[in-house]
Amino acid sequence: MTERAKNCTASGVPLAEPGSTSFPCPGCIVQSVNGETNPNPTIIGRSPRCRNQGVLYNCPTCGHQGP
Ligand SMILES: [Zn+2]
Repeated sequence: MTERAKNCTASGVPLAEPGSTSFPCPGCIVQSVNGETNPNPTIIGRSPRCRNQGVLYNCPTCGHQGP
């Protein structure tokens, strides 16, 4: 099942515009358990505006921060 973020994680705006994207949180992925990659990372949403401005996001699950 492919999960998609509905809102931008940084700004909270709905990801309806073209150019918006969502991706698995890199912080969650590397939060390995016994050397295994986390199979259920949180999906981070990015609006085009936040991407262009390089707004930092904070993962609500693992606290990972990234541009
Ligand atoms: Zn995370």
